[in-house]
Amino acid sequence: MSQYDKKNPVDLYPVPPFPEQEQSLPGEARRMDPKPDHGETSYVGKDRLVGYRGVVTGADSGIGRAAAIALSREGADLVLSYLPDEQADAEEVRDLLEGEGRKAVLFPGDISDEQYCHDLVSKAVEELGGLDTLVMVAGHQESHEDILEMTTEGIDQTIKTNVYSLFWLTQAALPHLEPGSAIVTTGSIQGTQPSPDKLDYALTKGAIGVFTAGLAQQLAPKGIRVNQVSPGPIWTPLQPASQDAETVSEFGMQAPYGRPGQPAELGAAYVHLVSPESSYTSGATITIAGGTPAV
Ligand code: NAD
Ligand code: MG
Repeated sequence: MSQYDKKNPVDLYPVPPFPEQEQSLPGEARRMDPKPDHGETSYVGKDRLVGYRGVVTGADSGIGRAAAIALSREGADLVLSYLPDEQADAEEVRDLLEGEGRKAVLFPGDISDEQYCHDLVSKAVEELGGLDTLVMVAGHQESHEDILEMTTEGIDQTIKTNVYSLFWLTQAALPHLEPGSAIVTTGSIQGTQPSPDKLDYALTKGAIGVFTAGLAQQLAPKGIRVNQVSPGPIWTPLQPASQDAETVSEFGMQAPYGRPGQPAELGAAYVHLVSPESSYTSGATITIAGGTPAV
């Protein structure tokens, strides 16, 4: 099966209830049940990004892994960012992509650290001989029922990881990005439809939408496009690592499809937004939420 086979999207993937499961952050794809599909056996490339050179954050697992697989199978060489604790997941991605003849360089670190963001871009320029693609997928999520439980440290971690990193990575990348380059951010339907237990996370996702819309205008005269993918509920380690087991077992049930999306269902959106086929697309959002309306 490839992404081009006609199929009923509603019953394509597992539906809740799922086995109850919890992990601690950042979580690992390899420990999820059922295993997420990142397109490993299904994504078929069509040479849409031959010669492209990109950075993908959060590339070890979930949506970032799916984006990395899709971009790589279209011909892009990549540097993959993730947290050091996620080395095992990241090596699976590297082994897969390098086994297919593409370059996939691992560079772990913490994007809430300004210096690492600059080092990541320098590493990409050095390893790939330049940079034209900045795909920012990494994100931090915690759940707190009560605002009184929230700490300054936790709020800082969420905002620095999800928002400050966009500034730092863009600032580092910009001197290297020629006209025709693309930046892709990863928001969430939480950015406009916040859950009551995700105040700081939802705030950052709203901010990512605003950042994308503003930066797209600022960089338009330079010929650099900036767009956002906005996912609904997607089956990734972020969920068991930041929510209780009961919530995870029902995850995605409220979407009109009655199931969460799989990371594999997002890879093509990142490819489209990076590819020159979307030359007049900037400041746009692709919402991927199984029928949940974008508002
Ligand atoms: P995931 O856990 O697979 O990916 C998140 C990744 O972020 C981790 O793998 C990790 O490498 C990276 N990360 C977190 N903190 C970091 C830090 N300080 N430094 C460097 N890397 C860090 O989960 P995912 O769901 O694929 O998340 C990817 C993106 O999708 C996130 O931005 C998330 O907010 C967004 N998103 C997810 C969902 C969902 O339902 N899963 C919905 C909407 C948006
Ligand atoms: Mg991970």
